[in-house]
Amino acid sequence: MKRIAVIDKERCNPVGCGGYLCIKKCPLNRMGLEAIVVGPDGKAQINEEVATDACQVCVNICPFNAIHMVKLPDQLTKRPMHRYSRDGFILYSLPTPIFGKVLGIVGVNGIGKSTAIKILAGVLKPNLGNPDAKEAAVDDLIKMFKGTEAQIFFEKVKKNQITLSYKPQEIEAIQRKARGTVKELLKKIDKEGKLGRIAEQLEITPILENDIQKISGGEMQRVAIAATVLKQASLYIFDEPSSYLDIKQRFKVAQFIKSLADENTAILVIEHDLIALDYMADLITIMYGKEKVYGIASQPKPAKAGINAYLEGHLREDNVRFREYKIGFSVSSKDKKRRKDQLTSWQPMEKKLGKFHLATTEGSVHRQEIIGIVGPNGIGKTTFVKLLAGIEKPDKGAPLQHISISYKPQAIAVPEEKTVMEFLEEAIKKHTNDVINPLNIKDLYNQKLSTLSGGELQRVVIAHALGQNADLVLLDEPSAYLDIEQRLIVAKVIRHLADTTGKSILVVDHDLVFLDFLSDCLIVFEGTPARDGKEIGPLPMEDGMNALLREVGITLRREEASGRPRTNKPGSVMDREQKDSGRLYYS
Ligand code: ADP
Ligand code: SF4
Repeated sequence: MKRIAVIDKERCNPVGCGGYLCIKKCPLNRMGLEAIVVGPDGKAQINEEVATDACQVCVNICPFNAIHMVKLPDQLTKRPMHRYSRDGFILYSLPTPIFGKVLGIVGVNGIGKSTAIKILAGVLKPNLGNPDAKEAAVDDLIKMFKGTEAQIFFEKVKKNQITLSYKPQEIEAIQRKARGTVKELLKKIDKEGKLGRIAEQLEITPILENDIQKISGGEMQRVAIAATVLKQASLYIFDEPSSYLDIKQRFKVAQFIKSLADENTAILVIEHDLIALDYMADLITIMYGKEKVYGIASQPKPAKAGINAYLEGHLREDNVRFREYKIGFSVSSKDKKRRKDQLTSWQPMEKKLGKFHLATTEGSVHRQEIIGIVGPNGIGKTTFVKLLAGIEKPDKGAPLQHISISYKPQAIAVPEEKTVMEFLEEAIKKHTNDVINPLNIKDLYNQKLSTLSGGELQRVVIAHALGQNADLVLLDEPSAYLDIEQRLIVAKVIRHLADTTGKSILVVDHDLVFLDFLSDCLIVFEGTPARDGKEIGPLPMEDGMNALLREVGITLRREEASGRPRTNKPGSVMDREQKDSGRLYYS
């Protein structure tokens, strides 16, 4: 069985560990061998040929968990596609763009999705696993993929027929750098005069004159998608196109992305919202392996089978189990009950903010309760929570009893120079076992907040909000940038914390699978964004989902094999039946 050794150079901190602890303590080094040495970059460098399986001293001793030693599955006979360095991450195969199709890619963070995209984009020249060798020529790749869709793709690359346009995951970075109005930004890219049509399709016409620095996350997401498609390309890649979009917008954008595929255009989408992914992808490639160590792309499968195989953690045809547990969705919404002990309650309230008007029905939040909050962007969800917390006073209706609140906003602003450990001081003191450890944050302790990836930062700010001393925690879109497994871990951490501390947790999110898994009941917002919003609830899950889905115009059923929610095809028998019976949400 082959084994690989990888050092995560970002984590390796020789000063922090007291001076190359792994090198000092390595038993093989002490015998005069060079199993682990100081590399040219000043970080530890492992010598795979010398280091042995039996000895895991360095793996266990590194305080930053920077060293990984992993056995590769016997079935893995493929030649590597790329290795970053002698002891770097290895990518074994690529998802292959297919013309006329939307190919969805699923996989945990750090499994090589971005690496694969960079290779497809021609930004990263693959070295076929030998970092000392010269880059692979396109002819080598054509030979390597003979008889597959990838061969067709690389033949087009060779003939310079592939042009690529890419929407990155973290749209905040684009927004931070961009200046001027939305229109000025998009005009620069619009060589073919398509801006008017695309802006209409993505519903950004009303914000074209706005300052790009001042638009919301959901608006920025659609501007970034518009910028991507205004560039003429044969391969479009969208990395998490649904983050920050509300549910209606997710379906619109999914339809829009689907409509781009034709015989000369291939689409790749990385997406962790399973309902949105299922809706837009024709095919799914699963990326699996060991995060930060190696990644493999499966053959494409039809969307439904691909998502189910991903949830099962099992690729039958390759006989590979890539996760020890199945991701299941067995809890029926009917089994979910409201808790008994009331934290706060309110009579109908009204609040006007500028041109926006919010009205609430009466309701209450109970201790230990997890309430999902759903509804369009710009409809008053945050204002409502501020009313609950006493930060805002209602214009009509009695002010509420003040309760303490901890709040994770959607747009994450953090003291960037602080380390994770400094930022999370309070959470570490009180919630190491129930929050910090399951969210896998310890390895990040010594990193500055400014160096974290989107998913890492999200986990840190969730831990921060959950770790505060507060009766009520509001998490605004905690799922953004988290992969599917991480979303489910976050859901479990929230559930456990509510049960053990009595905190009430309100979660604004647009990922229905995540909300379905997490919530005891739902607060639903309706109305016209930026003009008037109406709060209804908390409602039992089924009633809340019915109200939401009626507004969005879709129906959901449970997929037989996995139990996950799936949209019915509009106009299909099930869609019509469910609409007729008023049960838009499966029970
Ligand atoms: P994903 O997109 O699935 O989250 P990535 O392709 O970004 O995964 O990363 C896979 C692994 O490759 C990670 O361990 C990452 O640290 C490593 N990696 C990414 N870019 C580089 C690079 N330029 N040099 C060395 N390692 C890298
Ligand atoms: Fe220190 Fe860990 Fe880096 Fe080794 S790998 S030098 S133990 S931080």
